[in-house]
Amino acid sequence: MYTGWYKNRVYNPVVALTIYRRHSVDCRVHKLRLKAYEKKYFKDCDCPIWLTGSTDTERYPRQALGVRDWPAAEAKLRSLNATSKDQTVHGPKLEDCITRYLDARDDVKPKTLAQYKLLLGRLKDFAHGKNKFFIREVSIDVLEDFKTYGLAGLAGYSGPRNSD
Ligand SMILES: [Zn+2]
Repeated sequence: MYTGWYKNRVYNPVVALTIYRRHSVDCRVHKLRLKAYEKKYFKDCDCPIWLTGSTDTERYPRQALGVRDWPAAEAKLRSLNATSKDQTVHGPKLEDCITRYLDARDDVKPKTLAQYKLLLGRLKDFAHGKNKFFIREVSIDVLEDFKTYGLAGLAGYSGPRNSD
């Protein structure tokens, strides 16, 4: 049990995902005589909110969240944690796998990549329409059905539209 734990936690300690505030020099928080950690989690100003730590599946180096509103930041935090929990239970999302695949294919021409994108976008919509959101739910049957029903009309996409 110990070795398993050790293998899975090469970087340590694992810190839970946290949001905190990085105050500007002229923020009023500095006049409030708060302790350092109180400043860090101060909710009542407009300074940027940052994120750091790890979910069950991913590690987040320090980064700006892009929001300054505390409840909005908490909502983002919850959704990151929920996504990670989802992934732990169900494996990777189809959508994420497609994005990763497309991002990795920088070896093909833009036109080819656009076709991959179109095709995989169709596959994603088709699978979602059948309530399949995770890669491991995409079985041979789903793919066969996709070939039969999901690709209909796709051929007309890249050519010019008929103008009648
Ligand atoms: Zn501030």
